Amino acid sequence: MTIQKYVRQNIRDLKPYSSARDEFDGRAEIYLDANENPFESGLNRYPDPLQKELKSGIAELKSIKPQNIFLGNGSDEAIDLLIRIFCEPGRDEIVVLPPTYGMYSVCAAISNVSVREVPLKKDFQPDADAILEASSPASKILFLCSPNNPTGNHFKRQSLLKLIAEFDGIVVVDEAYIDFSEKESCLNWIDKYPNLVVLQTFSKAWGLAGIRLGMAFASEEIIRHLNKVKPPYNVNVLSQNAALSALNKIEDFQKEVAEIIQQRESLKETLMTFDFVQGVFPSSANFLLTKVLEPKPLFQFLIEKNIIVRNRSKVLLCENCLRISVGTAIENQQLLEALKLFTISKL
Ligand SMILES: *Cc1c(COP(=O)(O)O)cnc(C)c1O
Repeated sequence: MTIQKYVRQNIRDLKPYSSARDEFDGRAEIYLDANENPFESGLNRYPDPLQKELKSGIAELKSIKPQNIFLGNGSDEAIDLLIRIFCEPGRDEIVVLPPTYGMYSVCAAISNVSVREVPLKKDFQPDADAILEASSPASKILFLCSPNNPTGNHFKRQSLLKLIAEFDGIVVVDEAYIDFSEKESCLNWIDKYPNLVVLQTFSKAWGLAGIRLGMAFASEEIIRHLNKVKPPYNVNVLSQNAALSALNKIEDFQKEVAEIIQQRESLKETLMTFDFVQGVFPSSANFLLTKVLEPKPLFQFLIEKNIIVRNRSKVLLCENCLRISVGTAIENQQLLEALKLFTISKL
C-alpha cells in the first residue's frame, strides 16, 4: 500500500524551498552561504533544518529510524501540516471523535476542511463500525487521541488496530500522554502501516511545553511530505538544545513521570471521598476528569482560592466535569485543602 493517492496534487507536485543548509550538508570551517552574522554567539547560525542530532537521540530512545521521525513546533504544527498535505480545502474532511482535543477541528477550519464528528461511546471508547460507516472518500484523516484528552482513557488495542487497518486514509494516533500510560505505544506499527502517524510531544511528560517541540512518527513516505511542506527552520536552536539535554537526563524524566503517576492515583482516591464528587474517571494521563455536583460554583470557588482547573462541563459526554491536571504533592494537597472548605461552605 502506498499513501500517494491520499496526497493533494499540489503537494505531490511541490518543489520545496531549498535552504543554504539543505544545499551544503557537510562540515566546513567558514560559512558564507546563509547571510548570517559571522560573530559566534552560539545562536548566530540558522538551526539544522532536519534536526539530525536530536533525531538520532530520539531514534535511539524509541528504537526506530531517524527517517521515520518528523519534528515540529509542537505537535500542533504536525497536525496542521498533515491536514494541509492530505485535505483539499473546500472538498475533503477529517474525522474526529468528540469529546477530544480541540486543535484537530481548529486546524481543519483554518484550512477550510470540514470535520465529521463520530462521538465516542458512553464508555469513552471509539465505535469502530460507526466511524468506518460515517467515512467517505473525502475523509482523508482520522484523528484518534489515546490516551484521550479530556477523558483520560486509553482506546482498546483492537479498535485502534481495526481502524488503522480498515480506514481508507491516514490515521493519526495522538499519544501526547503515552508516557503516563501503562499501555504500549502504537509506535512499532508504523513499519506495518504506511498510513499511520503517531504523534508524541515534549510538552507533557518531558516538562518542556515552553520549547514547543512535537514529534510525528510515520512511514518514510509521510515524513518526506512533512519535510517538504514545513517551514525550513521550524525548530529553533534553543529548543533543539533543550531537548538534547533532556534526552541526556532520562532518569530525571523517569522520576518525574513516576511521581506524577503516583500523585494521580492518590489524588484520585482522595477526590472520591468528597460528597460533591460523583466520580473520577480512570486516567492513563496526567489529569483527572472529575464529575461533580455543581461544576460552575466549584470552578469559581477554586479560582477565588487561586487554583485554576479546566471546566469541561459543557463538553459532550463530560457533563458536570472538571479536568484537573496533576500537580506536585504540595499543589495537590492545597487543592484538597481548598476542596474541604467548599464542602464546609455547602453544608
Ligand atoms: C497537550 C496536547 C498536545 C500537545 O501539543 P503540543 O503542540 O506538542 O504542545 C497534543 N495533543 C493532545 C491531545 C494534547 O492534549
